Amino acid sequence: MNKVEARQKEIQQAEELLFAGPQALGFAKGLFQGHFVSNWVMPYPRIPATQQAESDRTLVELRQFLDEHLDPAEIDRQADIPRDVIDGLGRVGVLGATAPVEYGGRGFTQMVNCKLLEEIGHRCASTSVFVNAHHSIGIRALLLFGTHEQKQRWLPKLSTGEQLGAFALTEREAGSDAANVQMQARPTQDGSHFILNGEKRYITNAGIAQVLTVMARTPMPGSDKTAITAFLVTPDMPGFTILEARMPKMGIRGTATGRFSLRDVKVPKENILGPMGKGLKVALTVLDFGRTTFGACCTGAAKTCLRLATEHANTRKQFNKTLGEFDLVKKKIARIAAGAYAMEAMTTITASLIDRGLEDYMIETAMLKVFTTERLWEIINDAFQIYGGSAYFVDLPLERMLRDARINQIGEGSNEVLTSFIALVGMRGPGMEFKEIYDTVMKPSRDRISKAWAAGMNRLGAAIRVPDVPVRSEQLRANARQLGRLIWRFNFAVNRALITYREPILDMQLVQERIADAAMDLFASTCVLSRWDAELQFARRNGDSASADHSAADLFLRQSFRRIRGFLGGLTDNDDKSLLAAAKSVLGKPRS
Ligand SMILES: Cc1cc2nc3c(=O)[nH]c(=O)nc-3n(C[C@H](O)[C@H](O)[C@H](O)COP(=O)(O)OP(=O)(O)OC[C@H]3O[C@@H](n4cnc5c(N)ncnc54)[C@H](O)[C@@H]3O)c2cc1C
Repeated sequence: MNKVEARQKEIQQAEELLFAGPQALGFAKGLFQGHFVSNWVMPYPRIPATQQAESDRTLVELRQFLDEHLDPAEIDRQADIPRDVIDGLGRVGVLGATAPVEYGGRGFTQMVNCKLLEEIGHRCASTSVFVNAHHSIGIRALLLFGTHEQKQRWLPKLSTGEQLGAFALTEREAGSDAANVQMQARPTQDGSHFILNGEKRYITNAGIAQVLTVMARTPMPGSDKTAITAFLVTPDMPGFTILEARMPKMGIRGTATGRFSLRDVKVPKENILGPMGKGLKVALTVLDFGRTTFGACCTGAAKTCLRLATEHANTRKQFNKTLGEFDLVKKKIARIAAGAYAMEAMTTITASLIDRGLEDYMIETAMLKVFTTERLWEIINDAFQIYGGSAYFVDLPLERMLRDARINQIGEGSNEVLTSFIALVGMRGPGMEFKEIYDTVMKPSRDRISKAWAAGMNRLGAAIRVPDVPVRSEQLRANARQLGRLIWRFNFAVNRALITYREPILDMQLVQERIADAAMDLFASTCVLSRWDAELQFARRNGDSASADHSAADLFLRQSFRRIRGFLGGLTDNDDKSLLAAAKSVLGKPRS
């Protein structure tokens, strides 16, 4: 197969995997087409009234439990989360928060689930990653794709934490390249079982889980091809071996990250989750949920940084002044406050998209994951700097938080891979419209002309119309207009990039990065504006419109708008050629 054919095959496989026919236009896809699809993001979502009281009760119970029983420093020192903590989380309902009540869960929405995870993320990243591995991804395939019988059999014990779950995708050859899973699953002659062989590594909870969702490659009936299928595997199956239960590591030390092998492990076909051969789709959908709670955990940690940084800046004195009196410290504190405000808004809106039944939210969850994990890293760095030397010593939270946060940019889809994904999946919509127009010009036909006309009108409409951003508060109108104009500029930049580079844009990651960065800031700004608008409306209804302080939201919008202009400007004014040449000269050098 030559290079062009290989590329066409890759594109076709990605199309089959990611796009499933016509769907309602989501916010992110709309953004890439120059539209502001306001009903997904405005008004700012609220927890449904039916869940509010129970969610409040659970949050209070969770806080009390964590205050009394969770010792993050000890978890880090011992590299273990004590069983009584896990049992307590199960009792409070965190380990089956979104599982339906009929299977022993709490039936909470993703928004409520995110509030619970934010609360844990405030205190201990080991514990939040453990809960994510169990609930956000470990049992997610069962929740989303399991049959009634499978749910009835497995979920009750998993929902209470009596049994723990894990999600096993990663292998030596399948890290970022998740489609390259090598673990084999061969059907037995009578078709009643599959025989699994291979190894998985870096799997959170591998050594402590009783139920693992394992991705393995199965033959496709009637062809010589193979495809990935999801299986439920239990460690009591003969041939299941834990090679390393707890790989020693830099951060989130309380989690048990392990390696295991399967040697001729016989798994009944009843343990298949979702359709045969659709395991990659299952895995990607599961990870979408994980990325939402990632946002919540990062938000919790960011709020802790804000509290720690403020406390220190208000009490530590140098040069006869508190640190908070120096502008360079103020700058960091303000940046942390703005970031934390945006992270919470973005998490809430993204979770609500899932709850409200948007079919395709993969760009939004990817944006949330990249944005919140990058922002948290900067926020921890800022808080660390404010503490100076004292942050550097072990057992103070910031040293642990810094170590813990580093995994976020790598796990559940590395930020580089997701950045590329955001740009390419986002640009697909306008790209298809341009292709329709181009193909019609090259080879006109009656059928094509009408489709190309519709595509052309849509592109033209977006090119001439600045989208309306419908805020309710008068004082936010100027910000809303600025956001609308930036979306218009973004659409113009996306169109220009597609027309200029055409198919080679698929490999131009520096261009993709600027487009994805601009899209992420547009989404973040939208969420901030929506939240701010809702808070102003709420204050007005309660008659205290003057009191609310929104300086962090205001700062976020100003800085975000400036960044967006910078990203879009960078598409034409950059050092890409020089950068690529410098990298090439180094990468091409023989080792000395
Ligand atoms: C503590 C921990 C817990 C984990 N828990 C789980 C779990 O529970 N279940 C599970 O299945 N996995 C888990 N993982 C695995 C994790 O998801 C992978 O580490 C991650 O997907 C990256 O894969 P990799 O480590 O092989 O890095 P690689 O894929 O080798 O990537 C290395 C670097 O290259 C970059 N890169 C790769 N491809 C591209 C590209 N196309 N363009 C630009 N840059 C690229 C990456 O961004 C990264 O910076 C865990 C990992 C860790 C460290």
